[in-house]
Amino acid sequence: MPARTGAEFLNGMRDGREVWIGRDRVTDPRDHPALRGAAEAIAAVFDLHHQFPDDCLFPDPETGEPIAISHIIPRSREDLLRRHKGLRRVAEFSVGLMGRTPDYMNVTYAGFAGRSDEWAANGNEHGAANLVAFQKELARKDLSLTHTLIHATTDKSRGHVPSGLEPTQLHKVEDTGHGILVRGARVLATLAPFSDEIAVYPSQPMPDADPRHALSFCIPMATPGLKFLCRDSVSLPRNDFDHPLSGRFDEQDAFVIFDDVEVPRHRVFIDGNLHVYNTVMSPSWRGNAMHQTMVRAWTKLEFAWGIATRMAEAIGATDPVTQQMLGEIWSYAELTRAAIVAGEQQAYEHGNGAWFLDPDPLNALRATLPYWFPRVNEIIRLIGSHNVLATPTADQFADPYLRPLIDKYLRGAGPVTAEERARIFRLGWDFAGSALASRNEQYERFYLTSGARNRQGAQLRADRTRADRLVDRFLQERP
Ligand SMILES: Cc1cc2nc3c(=O)[nH]c(=O)nc-3n(C[C@H](O)[C@H](O)[C@H](O)COP(=O)(O)OP(=O)(O)OC[C@H]3O[C@@H](n4cnc5c(N)ncnc54)[C@H](O)[C@@H]3O)c2cc1C
Repeated sequence: MPARTGAEFLNGMRDGREVWIGRDRVTDPRDHPALRGAAEAIAAVFDLHHQFPDDCLFPDPETGEPIAISHIIPRSREDLLRRHKGLRRVAEFSVGLMGRTPDYMNVTYAGFAGRSDEWAANGNEHGAANLVAFQKELARKDLSLTHTLIHATTDKSRGHVPSGLEPTQLHKVEDTGHGILVRGARVLATLAPFSDEIAVYPSQPMPDADPRHALSFCIPMATPGLKFLCRDSVSLPRNDFDHPLSGRFDEQDAFVIFDDVEVPRHRVFIDGNLHVYNTVMSPSWRGNAMHQTMVRAWTKLEFAWGIATRMAEAIGATDPVTQQMLGEIWSYAELTRAAIVAGEQQAYEHGNGAWFLDPDPLNALRATLPYWFPRVNEIIRLIGSHNVLATPTADQFADPYLRPLIDKYLRGAGPVTAEERARIFRLGWDFAGSALASRNEQYERFYLTSGARNRQGAQLRADRTRADRLVDRFLQERP
């Protein structure tokens, strides 16, 4: 099947899934006011592929049918540069506000399939073959995936990952006639209401865990026993003037309960193989999956710089403090772009013929972006000051009594009209101050595990050869 359209994607959502938002069990996200906007946005991403086929589609290597470029298993630097164009198109659609558009999981699984040798280690050949077959299905059916990797926090004094068997965490209960029965919880499935299937795969290694926790699989959202509890919505009714972002880009996050769920055998990729569970999230994953995350981050930072610059111009803020802060955001965007280019230029074959980026520049970004993004929001709020709150609504602009007053008293600097000024500051607030903005800041702090752990990881993984040589020169000098 070729890449799906938005309408085809939306029709796939009606499948009897158990997604809860508040007390509402949502059978179709289009029917729920908190989910409709984002459902339409994800549908638009599917349509985008057909609007820009040169950037977003490529021929399936076996069938020749056009499929999303995010499914490509890169075999060269050229493949990565081609994929970059598609990732950029998708990121620009939501100006980087939707982190888990389906390309994130597509890229991840293309990488896993490309390094199926890593999944086949330690006697897991059957699981690896299942994964390779699934990746083809994912690409050809053009599925939308959510994923859940993290063990739900109950008592951190017992450790970050399970030690022994933790019955509340996702684990295997038993083999069944058709596969395995699993039980327990995981966090946090972003995009869940807008997904066809849920993927489970490793995150942090868990050296002391009972092997029953070592699981990886993928199953349809409507699989019996699967329950999704969405967080409070930060979506607002669609009104592109009043809140241009909150009406469409709340991608949702859900707590997942596997309440005795049967996973068919052909969809099990790891079944109790702790060695594979603890090793597959290797440099290949980092050099591959972070291609998508960093193109998105760069896009979001460039948008943030753009909106902050417009805000400053709208009120004639040419003072040095404002210019410094604008230059700070630009620097974050440019450093992110530069790291992506470095990763692509230094790309190499990671094994099995699969080409991914050099993970080092991306590791550095991963350790830094969780701190840059909150600072970017702070800058936008500092530049915005009270202006982000002195913004008439579309209804007020439409009111013949209020309109002349607004035009007279709420205009901006120079030629900036009251309407232009309101649009700019509403966009700034929706990006940096709204409920959506608050959720997004939390996302940037934690979506690739916490910034704290990412910094520790950067230090652990860094190549210190040159640093040691530079220091040793002085330490080894004769007194
Ligand atoms: C909006 C959002 C969307 C998400 N989407 C997904 C998703 O789609 N799929 C998915 O699987 N997961 C998702 N996650 C979950 C995410 O992966 C976890 O929130 C993340 O891994 C952090 O988990 P944690 O609380 O265990 O973090 P920790 O690393 O434990 O960090 C929490 C805090 O603990 C403190 N801390 C204490 N001890 C340490 C230590 N030794 N090292 C580091 N920090 C320490 C730090 O202050 C840190 O900020 C999402 C999270 C958010 C917020």
